[in-house]
Amino acid sequence: MKQVDCEEVKRNVHEFLHSELQETELEGITSHIANCESCEKHYDIEVVFNQVIQRSCDEAPTDELAERVKQRLREIQDHD
Ligand SMILES: [Zn+2]
Repeated sequence: MKQVDCEEVKRNVHEFLHSELQETELEGITSHIANCESCEKHYDIEVVFNQVIQRSCDEAPTDELAERVKQRLREIQDHD
């Protein structure tokens, strides 16, 4: 998976919210926010995620992606 730092999250958050990112970038950023205290304060992961899903609903096959991102979040959170 692509490694993402705080600066990259900041740079990409708009694209993130508009679902314009590649799947790997989306996963990387989601994972970073879930793991980074500083980013978690700035970007509520639930809010961000819900916005991504809402945006994605306008277009085709994102249910699978949504499931995979959710699964990834669960894996990350279970790690603690
Ligand atoms: Zn961060």
